[in-house]
Amino acid sequence: MTQRSDRSSKSARKGQEADRRKRGDALELLRTQYRSLAERYERLEAMINYIPDFIYAKDRDSRFLFANRAIVLNNGFTHVDEMIGLTDAEIHPTADARKIEEVERRVMETGEADLGVEEQRMKGEGWLTMSRVPLRDRDGRITGVVGASRDISARKRAEELMSAQTRLLEDVARGIDLDLLLKEAQALLQRLLNGRQVGFILSDEDSWPIAGGFWEFPINSRDGGRHGTLVVARAGDAKTEPMEFLAGIAQTIGIAIDRHRDIARIAYLAEHDALTGLPNRVQLDRKLGRLLEAAGRERKSVTVAFADLDNFKLVNDNLGHAAGDELLTIVAQRISAHVGNSGIVSRIGGDEFVVVLEEAAGPAYERLTAILADISKPLTIGGVEIRTTCSMGVACATAHGGTVSELFVNADMALYRAKESGRNAIQMFTQAMAEHARNKLIRIEELRRAVERDEFVLHYQPQKDIPSGKVIGVEALVRWQHPTEGLLPPGVFISLAEETGLIVPIGEIVLRKACKQARTWQERGLPALRIAVNVSARQFLEGSLTHQVASALHSASLDPEWLELELTESLIMQDVEAAIERMYELKQLGVSLAIDDFGTGYSNLSTLRRFPLSRLKIDRSFIADIPEKPGDMAITSAIISLGRMLALEVVAEGVETEGQVNFLEGAGCELFQGYLFAGPLPAPEIEELIAGMTAEAG
Ligand code: C2E
Ligand code: MG
Ligand code: MG
Repeated sequence: MTQRSDRSSKSARKGQEADRRKRGDALELLRTQYRSLAERYERLEAMINYIPDFIYAKDRDSRFLFANRAIVLNNGFTHVDEMIGLTDAEIHPTADARKIEEVERRVMETGEADLGVEEQRMKGEGWLTMSRVPLRDRDGRITGVVGASRDISARKRAEELMSAQTRLLEDVARGIDLDLLLKEAQALLQRLLNGRQVGFILSDEDSWPIAGGFWEFPINSRDGGRHGTLVVARAGDAKTEPMEFLAGIAQTIGIAIDRHRDIARIAYLAEHDALTGLPNRVQLDRKLGRLLEAAGRERKSVTVAFADLDNFKLVNDNLGHAAGDELLTIVAQRISAHVGNSGIVSRIGGDEFVVVLEEAAGPAYERLTAILADISKPLTIGGVEIRTTCSMGVACATAHGGTVSELFVNADMALYRAKESGRNAIQMFTQAMAEHARNKLIRIEELRRAVERDEFVLHYQPQKDIPSGKVIGVEALVRWQHPTEGLLPPGVFISLAEETGLIVPIGEIVLRKACKQARTWQERGLPALRIAVNVSARQFLEGSLTHQVASALHSASLDPEWLELELTESLIMQDVEAAIERMYELKQLGVSLAIDDFGTGYSNLSTLRRFPLSRLKIDRSFIADIPEKPGDMAITSAIISLGRMLALEVVAEGVETEGQVNFLEGAGCELFQGYLFAGPLPAPEIEELIAGMTAEAG
């Protein structure tokens, strides 16, 4: 502790010695260099005179006691002596001079310095920062004032330019309209440049705004390109002009233009289809909405058509997406060529277009027909000639709806109908379609309820073996016990169940009921009966079918050999490989498989060979006209021999006459199903029938 304080006092002493030495050196310098006091004063005055700042002293009456050269020259004098004794007000009697003297008086009266005050210069332009301190005599009495000021015009100017640029940048950031921004920038520059001419050249049409000498500043774009030029009339050389500032403004304008273009692009993309450049759904909704409002007021017609290509998927899948895109672009052009400025052509989805025409149904229909014809003209894509067709659904305001959504729903409904009825067609919306659609919705709802409440019953149609005269099996056929409409046949609801997916739970119900019934009959000691259950496409493709079948067999304790599943040709042909896989899965369970409605599809011998089948069921349409139609008889014979060749049992469906049975027997078909023997019957009636037959035989 002591040691340290020792050391610190030692170093303090050392510092004091150094100070003394320095002061001694200065005194020595004064003694040797500036010998007399006068000499020292002169030296000081010379120093003050060299400084570019303004320095002065005044007495209590604000009369100059001293002024450095900068002040002398600035006030138009040649020597300081000319100024001594004068006041500012006497030199230039202005309000500014009086203000200066006011400040000086306050400093002298209060004794408080007035430091670093920024003021505009009295004469000419520019800014000063001023300081005034009281001048005191040896006794501390205030005898006058000392002033010093510095020209800060350059700094002020820089600040001014900076704030101008900041303002512009703020406007850019705020995204103000480009024209407005350019006008503002021009006005701002002109003001900063004392009214000089300023202009922007942004396009080839812009005329050169300035004659004579000018500076050019490039207005660059973000991607290295160039938007244009900022042109400024010249007033000096590059050194005296605010070149950097002007280049900065040009850059700011460049940013603004980039931004403006981005925004325009985003706005464009938000309302256009990128591929075809057509208005997209958003724009269509907006424009059609407005059009409908106007049409409502002015009692004008508007026709809306939904158009959908018939074979787009085919092109896309087989020729690739690029070809698909090209096709869409060409179709867009073909449609647009028929629609004037008053109409709208929009792409709202993959291959879906909407055409809006400000016409009544009649002329609109003609125009749409022309569009349809044009679309179906052959075209070449990637060296391949293709033809595409299109279907259209049409709805008219206000007959078919007054709002965008009503018209869309109805046009879409009509389009659906056009597709259903064979494509390449125009379908007008009708109230009947709406009725139909409404009924369909109601039906779907009812069907859903029917699943929940289990409103399904099975009827069974016997299959008779001709040689033995015995019933060897039955086909389970579903019926819907509708709460108000009575017993409905499958034709009324199966396709709807397919469409909605309700076929999956319905199919499971049928499987369970059929298996249980078969088991019950076995338990009651009826002769062995094979039970056939129909399986539809959706059910077959659904992953759960195998599991459903296994579960139904299991819970009914039915041996799988008694269950047969009927599949249709068209179902299998949708995806042959997947179908074969599924068929083997089912076969694995021990059930047998039959092809239903055989002859109506396109299966050929070589694919048929690959299926693990037990039976073919000849479609009843071939049987119906036997023996009138030789062609049908030929087909039936061919199917029978095909079955024999593949070692499959053949069942004839829809046999209604003895003549048909005779023909079938002769052709080698030993099994049949039909009204001749029995239609589909409720389970108790099947029992009666079989009991009767056994009694007869016994
Ligand atoms: P399908 O499988 O071909 O069934 C035979 C249809 O022919 C039955 O019609 C039957 O009543 C009818 N039929 C039977 N004998 C004769 C006859 O001698 N002459 C005529 N003209 N017709 C006869 P149904 O019961 O109306 O069934 C129609 C179709 O509904 C069935 O055709 C089948 O494809 C489908 N279906 C029936 N039940 C189900 C089911 O549980 N699931 C699925 N997915 N479809 C079923
Ligand atoms: Mg069937
Ligand atoms: Mg059938």
